[in-house]
Amino acid sequence: MKLIVFKKSVLITVIAIIFAGIALGLCAGALAASASAGQTGRTVVIDAGHGGVDAGVLGAESGIKESDINLAIAKQLKGYFAEAGFKVIMTRTANGGLYGLPTNGFKMRDMKKRKEIIEKSGADMVISVHQNSCPLKSRRGGQTFYNPESETGKILAECIQDSLNSMEECVKKSEPLAGDYYMLRCTENPSVIVECGFLTNSEDEELLSSSDYQKRVAYAIFKGAVSFYG
Ligand SMILES: [Zn+2]
Repeated sequence: MKLIVFKKSVLITVIAIIFAGIALGLCAGALAASASAGQTGRTVVIDAGHGGVDAGVLGAESGIKESDINLAIAKQLKGYFAEAGFKVIMTRTANGGLYGLPTNGFKMRDMKKRKEIIEKSGADMVISVHQNSCPLKSRRGGQTFYNPESETGKILAECIQDSLNSMEECVKKSEPLAGDYYMLRCTENPSVIVECGFLTNSEDEELLSSSDYQKRVAYAIFKGAVSFYG
């Protein structure tokens, strides 16, 4: 009897290893395919929105800060882009904002610092990571924004939106939207804001609070962004 139990456990382990191998193989394949884009020396700026006293939207149920979720997803994104051979610049890597002291005008100082980082980097692409809110609590899912004056920005937003729409958790496909936002006007090169989901919706809030989903949504953004060069 013990022998049978042992065999079963070995079998389960072997199956688990095979599945893990297949999963790793698939991921490695996708990354290898995108590595050719990185070898051209492209620089991507990943901008985790908000930070410090500016928490952004708060989760309706848990009070989780948008700024913390943005940073977690931005860090995952950085890993994918770096592994694919891109030069990655983060506007922030810690929980604090970029405004110095939280005195009058801190929000504009924060935004200007981000713009300065983008300009200095010579960014080929900018991805700002945010989380959404809506008075209509049923609203869910990812939403990309682009500068209406940027044709390439629109294409990048479409690529990332398609990828977000193809996630199994996507309940309703969205179209990218034009938006006149400061962060979309920091470079001539394609720049997008990605709102990964709605913190005013409890299902989205739960997903966005989990590190597993943060990783998967980051991979969907990465995959969409890389397809822009495809
Ligand atoms: Zn935000």
